[in-house]
Amino acid sequence: MGFSDGKPLKIAVASGKGGTGKTTISVSLALSLGRAQFIDCDVEEPNAHLFLNPNLKEEEVVEIPVPRINFDKCTYCGECAKVCAYNAIAVLPNKVLIFDELCHGCGACTMFCPEKAMYEVGHPTGVIQHGDAGEIDFWHGILNIGEPMAVPIIRKLKKRVRDDLPVVLDAAPGTSCPVVETVRKTDFSILVTEPTPFGFHDFKLGVEVLRKIGIPFGAIINRADKGTDEVRKYCEKQGIPVLMEIPFDRRVAEGYSRGKPLVDVLPEYRDRFRDMYKRIAEMVLAKAA
Ligand code: SF4
Ligand code: SF4
Repeated sequence: MGFSDGKPLKIAVASGKGGTGKTTISVSLALSLGRAQFIDCDVEEPNAHLFLNPNLKEEEVVEIPVPRINFDKCTYCGECAKVCAYNAIAVLPNKVLIFDELCHGCGACTMFCPEKAMYEVGHPTGVIQHGDAGEIDFWHGILNIGEPMAVPIIRKLKKRVRDDLPVVLDAAPGTSCPVVETVRKTDFSILVTEPTPFGFHDFKLGVEVLRKIGIPFGAIINRADKGTDEVRKYCEKQGIPVLMEIPFDRRVAEGYSRGKPLVDVLPEYRDRFRDMYKRIAEMVLAKAA
């Protein structure tokens, strides 16, 4: 499914907080588009594979560069520890300790070592995996337990984004760096929310971030009949398009617990998701014109 200028869209699905139904919605969007690519960028807790059951057949390790020391050259001056913003280095009178699990791979210590005593080696932080799930070209990333750096894995995943298919990227919940990295360079973002006070609060944070990055976006209000009108009114006032409202349905909640996405439980939603994609395409085209 493309759109009128022939280029399929890259759409990120985000939510200011967890538990809004973001993944069942992003999976449902991808399943409604025919042949599509799905990339699960929620690398700390990827769970789209539970809905899509991909046949995973390819894996690549993701590494970040961490420093090592040539002790023949080191003078224990302490500059590397001073420059490290993440406290990943401690310099003792005759020892330098490097804590790989704290290192962000920024390269500053190696750059600033006055003796050129540092070099870098690869430190594995996780993997990306690839497979087919019916018509879906499926990718996801998995961050190793205890590793702090989700962004390099998301960057690696985003190198696999295709131009010939509609792409749905499932972002982590929240508004931190991994979310920013996921939505960057997409055509449009969907913010999934629910009409509760917490949902509304976190939705506004999501709106702020997307506005700062400059990505056009719209909202999906999930469990739309349970809660208040605040999100709806806010969207109206702020000129944020409400792309879809999904009322609470026990069958959807039950389906979720059995790994069944929304459109498998309620197939009539496939048309709604396809219509929403077309509407987004029109908005993207209008903005580009
Ligand atoms: S900056 Fe270089 S020379 Fe100084 S303690 Fe660190 S590794 Fe050794
Ligand atoms: S690469 Fe950056 S984060 Fe890692 S130890 Fe060096 S300065 Fe610290």
